[in-house]
Amino acid sequence: MTIASIDHHIHGRAVANASGRSQDVTNPASGKVTGKVGLADKAAVDAAVAAAQSAFPAWADTPPIRRARVMFKFLQLLNEHKDELAHLITAEHGKVFTDAQGEVSRGIDIVEFACGIPQLLKGDFTDQVSTGIDNWTLRQPLGVVAGITPFNFPVMVPMWMFPVAIAAGNTFVLKPSPTDPSASLKMAELLKQAGLPDGVFNVVQGDKVAVDALLEHPDVKAVSFVGSTPIANYIYETGARHGKRVQALGGAKNHMVVMPDADIDQAVDALIGAGYGSAGERCMAISVAVLVGDVADRLLPKLIERTKTLKVLDGENLEAEMGPIVTRAAHERITGYIDLGEKEGAKLLVDGRKFDGAKAGKGCDDGYWMGGTLFDHVTPEMRIYKEEIFGPVLGCVRVADLKEAVDLINAHEFGNGVSCFTRDGNVAREFGRRIQVGMVGINVPIPVPMAWHGFGGWKRSLFGDMHAYGEEGVRFYTKQKSIMQRWPESIDKGAEFVMPTAK
Ligand code: NAD
Repeated sequence: MTIASIDHHIHGRAVANASGRSQDVTNPASGKVTGKVGLADKAAVDAAVAAAQSAFPAWADTPPIRRARVMFKFLQLLNEHKDELAHLITAEHGKVFTDAQGEVSRGIDIVEFACGIPQLLKGDFTDQVSTGIDNWTLRQPLGVVAGITPFNFPVMVPMWMFPVAIAAGNTFVLKPSPTDPSASLKMAELLKQAGLPDGVFNVVQGDKVAVDALLEHPDVKAVSFVGSTPIANYIYETGARHGKRVQALGGAKNHMVVMPDADIDQAVDALIGAGYGSAGERCMAISVAVLVGDVADRLLPKLIERTKTLKVLDGENLEAEMGPIVTRAAHERITGYIDLGEKEGAKLLVDGRKFDGAKAGKGCDDGYWMGGTLFDHVTPEMRIYKEEIFGPVLGCVRVADLKEAVDLINAHEFGNGVSCFTRDGNVAREFGRRIQVGMVGINVPIPVPMAWHGFGGWKRSLFGDMHAYGEEGVRFYTKQKSIMQRWPESIDKGAEFVMPTAK
């Protein structure tokens, strides 16, 4: 088997890594090394930023409608290459192919949104703010902006960022996760094919060295980050210290409340899909079921049965409901949390640790496999409750009523997503108003906002003020300018020493 060399994309062409450092890329289903990704040094980052900086003036001056036309062409190419991208995701991330197709589709939504950039950039104009004076505001691009992205959505999360940034007239440097880097190069190729000028979109593969070089580079004006909370916090502080605009989206512990009046079968479906879909490696995965009143007795027998019979198979098998864990290290971390949960006194209802990879498909013996794990009697003091496990481990917490459920969730350090299953309109309304979480689902387990609404959590799930994509995304990637104008005919004679007021 050939081992692919996965390197950078700078100024419209492939650039070999020259740092002498690289990292293995593996197929999580087989555990086999399929590629070597170059890890950029500062020189590679400097080259990418220089390419982006040189492309910026002409791109920023390109009329928005012409930038939108490149996006329309990119959209068409993405639709044509959707399955190719999805296969790349499955090969390096492990998520099941149909889920990977869904990821690409949600990325495509943002490109569709970015195609509307002429309308989104339209400014405000006030005629006659004072006699003979008009005032208007416009939004201009920032310059070179960087995106630093996690392993779990190698297509969708970069597309939360660059379509909006580029359509708004910025140039972009993407630093993808080295765990699954190939999709970023395919997107770069499609952008070039769509007619994007060289240098407007660049990819540097790498790790902390590349990230730090971007954070410290004076020509990088803004950084969008998605990843774990400790790194998000670091990116926010370091970026701000270097004078950059930063949005840094972090980790999560998402709860799903099941009220006694909820449809139990629907709630079980929701917990199975949102808890174990993508092997729980989603920032919007449900990792805590909050069972209110007598719900546990009615729901758990069904949930146990469904967790035990999850179809854990090679992601390329169209029957698969859950694929492997992304890396051996992640597999060990998740296994460690299950060991810990037992020690902490949670009741292990389904144990996913001993899973025979051979059952997942041909060639899967050495992959990073596990089944779904289900705990009951999880309590707020336990580390398996407090910390993000980021794997197929669902914990159940029992509470007496809605107030206890809301208090529990509001006390958690994360506030990314949350869901409440109920038939009661007043419960739904109160829950939506009282909960201290950025994205709320009522009978919707994974309430990822659509492209024009913007994505972002609260508390330690987001550092910064602006959510990703949607109108907040446009604001993040542009700065507002106000212009006040008059013509000589409306200028009174003589100097004015008082604060000007409307006349
Ligand atoms: P990660 O934080 O390990 O890595 C994210 C990015 O930061 C990668 O590009 C990585 O190369 C870089 N990085 C890693 N360590 C670094 C360091 N010490 N200094 C500088 N850069 C560093 O996250 P991950 O494991 O790739 O992704 C999973 C995490 O991402 C989970 O915590 C998940 O909740 C989170 N996530 C959050 C959202 C959201 O919208 N809030 C979305 C997706 C994923």
